[in-house]
Amino acid sequence: MSLKTEDDGTVWMYERLHTGYGTIYRVEQTLFDSNTPHQRLVVGSTVAFGNVVWLDGVTQVTERDEFCYHEMLAHVPILAHGAVETVLIVGGGDGGMAEEVLKHKGVKRLVMVEIDPGVIDFAKEHLASINKGCFDDTRFELVIADGKDFAATCKDTFDFIIVDSTDPVGPGEVLFTRSFYSDCKRMLNEGGVLVTQNGVTWFQPDELHNTVYNFAGLFADAGCYVTVVPTYSGGFMALGWGTDDAGLRDVPLGTLQQRYEAAGLQDCRYYTPEVQKAAFALPRFIGEIVETANRQARDKA
Ligand code: SAM
Repeated sequence: MSLKTEDDGTVWMYERLHTGYGTIYRVEQTLFDSNTPHQRLVVGSTVAFGNVVWLDGVTQVTERDEFCYHEMLAHVPILAHGAVETVLIVGGGDGGMAEEVLKHKGVKRLVMVEIDPGVIDFAKEHLASINKGCFDDTRFELVIADGKDFAATCKDTFDFIIVDSTDPVGPGEVLFTRSFYSDCKRMLNEGGVLVTQNGVTWFQPDELHNTVYNFAGLFADAGCYVTVVPTYSGGFMALGWGTDDAGLRDVPLGTLQQRYEAAGLQDCRYYTPEVQKAAFALPRFIGEIVETANRQARDKA
């Protein structure tokens, strides 16, 4: 990642997560640029997406399109399950995921395990439009730790676990392993759901294959659903889905609609019950990755 000043004096942030392909943002003001003990944290106010957070050069969250990601990762599993009371978020430092989860009055306890307190501190000061003060909710518990270490030793259980991590490079790498997923399965209550940030499949097919392959060895239903986040460029983003209740992906539209209205989610700007149903209808090139990973896991079993 690099900040460059063009001849005309404009400043641009260059992101190069993917091989041979990048994204550039016109930056109006660099709000923060420092190394935390875990990663380089840069935040800039940009012309096109408002405040943007980059960790180790990779776009994490933007003020303008964060809802496309947080709404789909939080509400799809909660409305499918119908009775989520306890939630674990691994990662999620910007607070956007926690804010969406805490919209559900049925959630009694939300634990968020974040490795980098610097992200939290920054989010409280500069990303209030995303987290809306969720860190002060009495149901919210923050644990500063490596999510892998937490999962390996946690004795609590949860109805729903979200891995809202960075990509499998740097500190996030350990959150894409079989042993971590196995620890998450151990922490899940019966009928619970594990969902994961699994990258943009066009550029990161192996990331999705790896997660589904490992999920298939742990869950009756191992797959993904999709969303589109403009700044995670390259088309559909895969959200890993693991549960032993195979019916959760097929909850009738009418039931989702009732739960959606009871939860008061009409202010969502991406999520609708119809979008939930559609999100599991995968483009063939993504469906084939899911089918192959499940087949290979079955053949190995
Ligand atoms: N929406 C983003 C995406 O799709 O890539 C994720 C955003 S969130 C900021 C990612 C968070 O994961 C960061 O705050 C980072 O510090 C945290 N993180 C990375 N590795 C971690 C680990 N091993 N344990 C806990 N948190 C971790």
